[in-house]
Amino acid sequence: MPPPADRAPATRVPTIIVHGGAGADPSDGRDELRQGVRAATVAGWRVLSAGGAALDAVESAVRTLEDHPRFNAGRGSVLTRDGTVEMDASIMEGDHLQCGAVAAVPRIANPITLARRLLEARRHVLLVGDGALAFARSVGVPECDTASLVTDRQQRRHAEVAPRSATLGGTVGAVALDRSGTIAAATSTGGTIGKLPGRVGDSALIGCGTYAESSIGGVSCTGDGEAIIRVVLGHRALYFLKDAADPEYAAKIAVDLLVEEGRGHGGLILLDWRGRTGYACSTPLMPVTIMSPALAEPRTPF
Ligand code: ASP
Repeated sequence: MPPPADRAPATRVPTIIVHGGAGADPSDGRDELRQGVRAATVAGWRVLSAGGAALDAVESAVRTLEDHPRFNAGRGSVLTRDGTVEMDASIMEGDHLQCGAVAAVPRIANPITLARRLLEARRHVLLVGDGALAFARSVGVPECDTASLVTDRQQRRHAEVAPRSATLGGTVGAVALDRSGTIAAATSTGGTIGKLPGRVGDSALIGCGTYAESSIGGVSCTGDGEAIIRVVLGHRALYFLKDAADPEYAAKIAVDLLVEEGRGHGGLILLDWRGRTGYACSTPLMPVTIMSPALAEPRTPF
């Protein structure tokens, strides 16, 4: 398929924006969060600055955070009510709206790579549970021990039966624009603490947690998944971005929508086709990092 007709032929300024989840506790290791999102941004930037694809950049950034035990994705995922790990992830490229997603998957160290393989297979958009594991086997994505995903921190939080207000935080996401003008977005999470087994959140749902259209931009959301699903936040945020003169404003009104119509809390990151970024959250903290050629090093505005 040809690129979108309204895309200008000019080479684009590569840019990446990464988040580490709305709702992180600011008193609980802010430096570690900052270093984590910076490392993920550097991993994605390495791809983009070498002329690589936005899809590879967001996968690389999200994998870095899935491997980081402090974030609620891959290793470090929160536990379900029954003490199990069930992860959601989705990835999308905005030229042809190709996407892949997995939901409620156990025993996969990097669910975002499994979602990527599904995107590449070009047959289904979303696989869940055992079917997702069978697909993983068929495409050579390795299974791991559940124990390798469970951290002491999450075991403690599970034992404390955290109050609902403390159940968010640590979901990860990235949006990138590459030199050829393709925008990709990706999101990965362990979900919410104490969720019922089988629960699927926004991070696995295209249009809710993740969305990208190269002629407009890309978005990755985080926060109260049920509220994000109710207002289809990712897709609506992208169309706010299309209409708004300023991505920061688009991010802000999208979060207002989440709070007022969705009656939930959270945040999101945005990137438009020009490489302009925006982010907003209704929680006290959302780790964010941005990198583009105009910056000497990743900007970490939190
Ligand atoms: N949105 C995620 C979910 O509901 C949680 C989060 O972003 O903290 O699964």
